[in-house]
Amino acid sequence: MKAVGKTTRRPPPKKPSNNQKDPVGVYCRVRPLGAEDEECCIEVISNTTIQLHAPDGLKANRNGEFKETQYSFKKVFGIKTTQRELFADVAKPLVEDLIHCKNGLLFTYGVTGSGKTYTMTGSPGQGGLLPRSLDMIFNSIGPYQAKRYVFKPDDKNGMEVQNQVDALLDRQKRDSQTSVPKTPTTRRTDPEFADMISPEEACKAGGVDEDSSYSVFVSYIEIYNNYIYDLLEETPFDPIKPKPPQSKILREDQNHNMYVAGCTEVEVKSTEEAFEVFWRGQKKRRIANTQLNRESSRSHSVFIIKLAQAPLDADGDTVLQDKSQVNVSQLCLVDLAGSERTSRTRAEGSRLREAGNINQSLMTLRTCIEVLRENQMCGTNKMVPYRDSKVTHLFKNYFDGEGKVRMVVCVNPKADDYEETLLVMRFAEMTQEVEVARPVDRPICGFLTHRLEERGGPVDGESPTVLNQLLQSFHPLPPCEISGPNDDVTLPRLIEALEKRHKIRQMMVEEYNKTANMLKSVLQEQDSNLLSKENFIQEQRGRLGEKDKMIQNQKNEIDRLEKKSKMLEYKIDILQKTTNIYEEDKRSLQHELESREQRLQREMSEKRRMETRMQGIVTDAKLKWEKECERRVNAKQLEMQNKLWVKDEKLKQLKAIVTEGKTENRQPQRPSREKDKVAAKRSVSPSPVPSSLSSLEPIYKFSQTVRPDPHFPRPGSVSVASCISEWEQGVPHCCRQGSQSPPDSRKRAQGLPDSLRRRRGRCWAREVPVQPAEVDLEETGHWVSRTGPLVRPLHRRSHSAGGERWVDHKPTTNVDLDTVLQPNIPNAIKVNAPNEKALSKCDKYVLTHQEFASDGEIQTKLIKGEVFKTRGGGQAVQFTDIETLKQENPLAASRKRRSSETGPDGEPMERNWTDVETRCSVAVEMRAGSSLGPGYQHHGYPKRRKP
Ligand code: ADP
Ligand code: MG
Repeated sequence: MKAVGKTTRRPPPKKPSNNQKDPVGVYCRVRPLGAEDEECCIEVISNTTIQLHAPDGLKANRNGEFKETQYSFKKVFGIKTTQRELFADVAKPLVEDLIHCKNGLLFTYGVTGSGKTYTMTGSPGQGGLLPRSLDMIFNSIGPYQAKRYVFKPDDKNGMEVQNQVDALLDRQKRDSQTSVPKTPTTRRTDPEFADMISPEEACKAGGVDEDSSYSVFVSYIEIYNNYIYDLLEETPFDPIKPKPPQSKILREDQNHNMYVAGCTEVEVKSTEEAFEVFWRGQKKRRIANTQLNRESSRSHSVFIIKLAQAPLDADGDTVLQDKSQVNVSQLCLVDLAGSERTSRTRAEGSRLREAGNINQSLMTLRTCIEVLRENQMCGTNKMVPYRDSKVTHLFKNYFDGEGKVRMVVCVNPKADDYEETLLVMRFAEMTQEVEVARPVDRPICGFLTHRLEERGGPVDGESPTVLNQLLQSFHPLPPCEISGPNDDVTLPRLIEALEKRHKIRQMMVEEYNKTANMLKSVLQEQDSNLLSKENFIQEQRGRLGEKDKMIQNQKNEIDRLEKKSKMLEYKIDILQKTTNIYEEDKRSLQHELESREQRLQREMSEKRRMETRMQGIVTDAKLKWEKECERRVNAKQLEMQNKLWVKDEKLKQLKAIVTEGKTENRQPQRPSREKDKVAAKRSVSPSPVPSSLSSLEPIYKFSQTVRPDPHFPRPGSVSVASCISEWEQGVPHCCRQGSQSPPDSRKRAQGLPDSLRRRRGRCWAREVPVQPAEVDLEETGHWVSRTGPLVRPLHRRSHSAGGERWVDHKPTTNVDLDTVLQPNIPNAIKVNAPNEKALSKCDKYVLTHQEFASDGEIQTKLIKGEVFKTRGGGQAVQFTDIETLKQENPLAASRKRRSSETGPDGEPMERNWTDVETRCSVAVEMRAGSSLGPGYQHHGYPKRRKP
């Protein structure tokens, strides 16, 4: 007979009535490096925090973007953590909860090779969480286990209680099946699990309800590619047509709990047996993986430990045949697939799809956690997509508040896993923020006095002892059968007993009320405590919210600043580049400048060299041309003189012809030979220069810049002295007595009549514009021409009277002749030697020059000239006129005249001429016996030219 009971595992309300929540407990386990020389990227900095730092290569690749990150967990287990330590912290509380009718979910998460399986299953001698959990369960419930098949799964996630007969029958059936191994009698017989847990490491949970009977069921499933496979399913082996494993589906039971429909649940009675079952599943898994070419790291394995407990009946021998009294709690141990991205596994084709699904299930897990977190933090009510994958769908009740959830994040500190580990850490961080409702404590269903007595009764207060005493004081009722009508004893005894009982009952009620009141007040107190605590929590929450907001603001600010700093960095970069370009430009420009300067320098020096060369050339050319000009002037002078003499000769001839006409036979003709000789002589030496003047020649050179006077042959080489002597040569013909004339001119003049002679003189004067013969200066009144007052005065000479400024040059060597006739030049600047300053102020120049005449008398000449400015900025003097003043001794003059009269010429004309001259001379008062010696020196006037 089977008593089907309703499980109390799931009270109907989806949301538990208690609002206490616990965050998902996330632990981190860091495995040791595979090889010691491997690069490490994780550092455990405290027992709750680890720090990730990017490996060197990655840092370089990311261009310094990386920063070291820290992650905190409920607890961090370093590489030296033993399996036992880990179990004690992580799984032991869950096993205790399981025994106390609470559900638990524990999963390992991490990339492949990070130690998930090692953590969950372990290795020989290093049993993981799973064997240790099993061991602890059996250690705890060992003596209180129900007989096999007393509890029987109902295939709807419920648990039934069989009566003893059915259970016995099932046991017998099982024993008869050889294929099913018997419960091992000795521990740790399977070599595969040998020494997983050493006996001294055994754990035991306290608080096992001894009034209950327990039974453990295990299931082992694998979720691969979003399909659920039962690893404990007994499939009859068909060698002809091996059946592929059939996937299972998820169902929801009447309490809305998810379960794998048709999943094998094996009842186990010891750790070893449970191990064996697990191992069977492992084997099957391995075989399936090999057969189907699957990778175990891509499947999630779920080992479910169900603990059924039900109160014993009043005898304490059998389990209460009431399904409603059966409590089933379960602990799921999940070894998740590797969390790495698809690219990490060398997947292709269908395997890539599988990998995608595996990842998809983990992605869904992440999404669910995210949504849960969001709902909890923001108060939203978003739908959590549990159904998107089998794993999340299977465990959705846990997240909805059906039990404790714990996660062990496994990490391999090697640098190669850095990026994957980073993602794992982020997920873990997020998961920690999800809160799961705390499972309510379920009441212990069994209530049996003898067990209570065994345990020493309830612990709180003295009331139970009072009640016990009261109960003990209940005496059995006396026999109430009345023997007869006269039986007066029975009834009063009964009444007395009943009254006693009534009294006791009243006392019990009182006691009960007292206890109830006490409990009430305690509860009220607790309530108010709770309320104040809740208020406090609320307050703290508010503060937390504020802090959260502040943190958010600061995060935003940090983000903004980071962006800004990036922007600025970018700007700086650009500016740096611009600066570089400008600097480059500057350098090139400086280069160019330097080269140009060098070129300029070169050109300057070239120019200077050219200048000096040109100056040399110019000087050379100038000298050459000066010489050339001198030569040409000389030649011209000669030519002119020759012409002059030719004319002279012609005149002479003319004169001879004229004279011949008058005194044909009186005047003997000059022998032609002599004339020729003279002519020849003239041509050779055109200007016989007086000895006294010959020294002037180099001094009285005219400047080349002197304006050529058409009336006065004055080439550059013509000296003043020569001019003077030339002029003087002309003078005797018109102004002097024949004695002073050169013999030829005297001879020429001898044959001419007065008038003609005068004309001839004029003609001479016209030809030579400097006409000293006609100097009379009548206007001035100081000078009287020797040719008499009839001589026509030159208009030009009136200038000597005034109106123009004169430089009056009187050499210091001049002798004071004490003459009456003295030149009077008003406004003149008197100088002993000509100077540029004086010349620059004047426009006329006069030199008073003394010399001996041919007759031995001193003759004073006023050589006049015009001052003009040269192009070179200097002054030059152009001689234009000579006035002569001669002193004569009358005695010597008569003597002379006489001698001239008695000269070979003896011409009356000559005499006439002398008369005129004499007449003129008479007017001139002279001092006889001048003491002037023949050494009289004349100071010439040098050609003025600026250097
Ligand atoms: P996963 O299941 O995450 O793919 P495993 O659990 O299979 O990784 O671990 C890979 C290897 O690393 C195994 O050989 C295991 O023995 C070793 N290992 C993992 N974690 C530890 C640890 N904490 N201490 C020693 N060895 C470990
Ligand atoms: Mg593994």
